[in-house]
Amino acid sequence: MSTRSAQIMRRARAVTPGGVSSPVRAFGGVGGDPFVVERGEGARIWDVDGREYIDYVLSWGPLALGHAAPAVLDAVAAAMARGTSFGIPCESETELAELIVRRMPHVEMLRFVSSGTEATMSAIRLARAATGRDAILKFDGCYHGHADSFLVRAGSGVATLGLPNSPGVPDQVACLTLVAPFNDADAVCRMARSAAGGLAAIIVEPVVGNAGFIPPDPAFLPALRQIADEAGALLIFDEVMTGFRIAPGGARERFGVTPDLTTLGKVIGGGLPAAAYGGRRDLMEMMAPTGAVYQADTLSGNPLAMAAGLATLRALTPELHARIAGRTTRLVTGLRAAAARRGVPFSAESAGSMWGFFFRAEPVRTFTDARASDVALFRRFFHEALARGVYLAPSPFESAFMSAAHGDAEIGATLDRLDDALGAVVS
Ligand code: PLP
Repeated sequence: MSTRSAQIMRRARAVTPGGVSSPVRAFGGVGGDPFVVERGEGARIWDVDGREYIDYVLSWGPLALGHAAPAVLDAVAAAMARGTSFGIPCESETELAELIVRRMPHVEMLRFVSSGTEATMSAIRLARAATGRDAILKFDGCYHGHADSFLVRAGSGVATLGLPNSPGVPDQVACLTLVAPFNDADAVCRMARSAAGGLAAIIVEPVVGNAGFIPPDPAFLPALRQIADEAGALLIFDEVMTGFRIAPGGARERFGVTPDLTTLGKVIGGGLPAAAYGGRRDLMEMMAPTGAVYQADTLSGNPLAMAAGLATLRALTPELHARIAGRTTRLVTGLRAAAARRGVPFSAESAGSMWGFFFRAEPVRTFTDARASDVALFRRFFHEALARGVYLAPSPFESAFMSAAHGDAEIGATLDRLDDALGAVVS
């Protein structure tokens, strides 16, 4: 018998490519059809057939407080009663910018946009304008949105679908993007020295989330700072995913390395479309209208998104952040123990409220390592987890998240269900 999800997906595929508004949602990395969601509350979502799941995707990261968090709903409702969009300054933009600048003092000024893609694309434009150079350096398996410059050996859905370089990106643009292995400072050094005309920027996910979860080796980010300085290039931390997840003040607070520019998204919109790029004042003042580098957006700084972001960040105090991080550690430690008991080759790590795992005994430090994990086992595990009511990202090359709504009861239930799912894939 056909489920309601299957019926809706059949209709969706007739009118949208793959039936989805973003490729990874199509379950291409794990096989089968996605379920269609009806609603969410706290740590849980329900599909249109009434099945309940504990959700570790959380809209791919933004929902730090969980689904339908009352503080966010109230703030959005109050903002909405005053109107949905104006295209002229609202005080809430300044309030959210001030809050971000307080938590991330190296972000001296910022500009709001509506998506992470716009944030990284604009940051690169600014870096090119500031340095007068064209080449950028990114890392194998890192994903920085879908702008042309970044669709070169990218992670996330691009890697999941095995399309590392996208048709439609002109060679003349792609050849300006150099790609180094993550955690390999020597390779970065060599490439920075040999880049014709010099590098405009090194852009990095300080903790990789889009090739699965890969933390930086302790010396890696300091080395990038030094190499960028020697090369006269800017260092850009793409914190669209890690921002307000790996530490209350992001990567600089966690690793003690200060980038020139930072890109943010996901959590700062609390589940509505908001993102930002920011950093050194002298650089940000190069943006129009104070400077000549152009970037604009009809809906940026949208008052509903600002309200959701403000409610989320105000609630996300360092104390709450520590509590969520503690629960994330409990989950990851429990998973490692379950895999060890069952003799499954497994590694799992976390930073703050971001976590991930691979079916591979050795630690994963590069995208090459990630690809060498047991991807077929991941696919089976994903479906066994889903059948037991745990929704993980439908790809071995994505991270998982935790929210304030995932309490001890949810963590306990998740550990029991995933232990059972592990049993099913190894039996
Ligand atoms: N940068 C990083 C690190 C991301 O994880 C993403 C999206 O997942 C982006 C940029 C692009 O953001 P968006 O999907 O909002 O365009």
